[in-house]
Amino acid sequence: MPYDPHGLDDDDDRGAKGDGDGQQRRFSDFDCPDCAANNPYDDKFGDGDEVRCYYCGQLFRAQVSDGGKLRLKEV
Ligand SMILES: [Zn+2]
Repeated sequence: MPYDPHGLDDDDDRGAKGDGDGQQRRFSDFDCPDCAANNPYDDKFGDGDEVRCYYCGQLFRAQVSDGGKLRLKEV
């Protein structure tokens, strides 16, 4: 079996693996960008939803990328 020096670089495209749903992904919690508190969200939220930090009261709008990655923007 020949040694393949590029074998370890194969997984460049797999950053989103396991996320599955991409932009349709739903989240059950988030870490507040302002105060770093973890906020569990029983109702689940996704792209375009607004979520409020229970600790500092800041409101954020969720933006989910095609790869299923969550970003929060202050409203
Ligand atoms: Zn907060």
